[in-house]
Amino acid sequence: MEVLVLGSGAGGGIPQWNCLCPNCVRARLEIKEKKEPFSLRRTQSSIAVRAVGEKWVLLNASIDLPTQLSREPELAPPGIEIRSSPFSAVVLTDAQIDHASGLLSLREGKDIELLCSESSWDLLSNSYPLIRILSSYLEIKKATFPFKIGSLLFNALNLGRSVPPYAQREPRPDDVIAVSIEEESGKKIVYCPALPEINPQLEEFIQESECVFIDGTFWSENELCLWNIKEKKASQMGHVPVGGENGSLNWLSSLKIPRKIYIHINNTNPMIDPDSAQAKAVALSGVEIAYDGMKLLL
Ligand SMILES: [Zn+2]
Ligand SMILES: [Zn+2]
Repeated sequence: MEVLVLGSGAGGGIPQWNCLCPNCVRARLEIKEKKEPFSLRRTQSSIAVRAVGEKWVLLNASIDLPTQLSREPELAPPGIEIRSSPFSAVVLTDAQIDHASGLLSLREGKDIELLCSESSWDLLSNSYPLIRILSSYLEIKKATFPFKIGSLLFNALNLGRSVPPYAQREPRPDDVIAVSIEEESGKKIVYCPALPEINPQLEEFIQESECVFIDGTFWSENELCLWNIKEKKASQMGHVPVGGENGSLNWLSSLKIPRKIYIHINNTNPMIDPDSAQAKAVALSGVEIAYDGMKLLL
């Protein structure tokens, strides 16, 4: 299986257009100085996976999708027809604006096989009606878990009630899901860019994986409060922080999974700076930090 990280930042990316936090300021400096490769810059999170010889499957469609596609030659349209999509399907882990809005950029295609939870389908049909809007441009085919795309089997685990702020209804258990992608050989990876809580069901779900992508949004519970950005704590926003006794790093370091990778990293998270103590603590625990363009062959 091949995995390509199209974007590794949380909503807003790095630098975020209206942000003057240290990471955003440094990321702008890297751009100004034309530093390559960029160490801090991140577009909004999304990955593509494929079994060797098959089409790509897109996991979450960020608003940065056109930029991400234009810089990845491997995602050029395949085949000899004048128009063709590199994707056989799109999978969504929730219906947040930064994970779903990229669907709009796929409207020039013929159809989209869309695999998501009932909650996300409902939110994107009603509160934020991308599906309704897109249906005027192309056919949206609804798929439900478990679902086989080519030789890859997609499964989901409900992670909990955490609706986007725009939702016009009560939260549901399948608002946020983790998605596993399994080859016929049994090799499996898990994509989990939003983690509202760590529980035994998740631990069972990711067991025997070759690789897990985990929510790395915030380092600490009150990261946004410290910068006076928001009153809300990380856990109130549906993200277990990386650091601290009950953080995800402690938990991940105890798991025997060959590759553990943080993704969906917010610009305020100090670990995004490779020279920070936090980045060093992550590396010491055997966990990696995703970057745009990261490639894995599993
Ligand atoms: Zn997000
Ligand atoms: Zn920032």
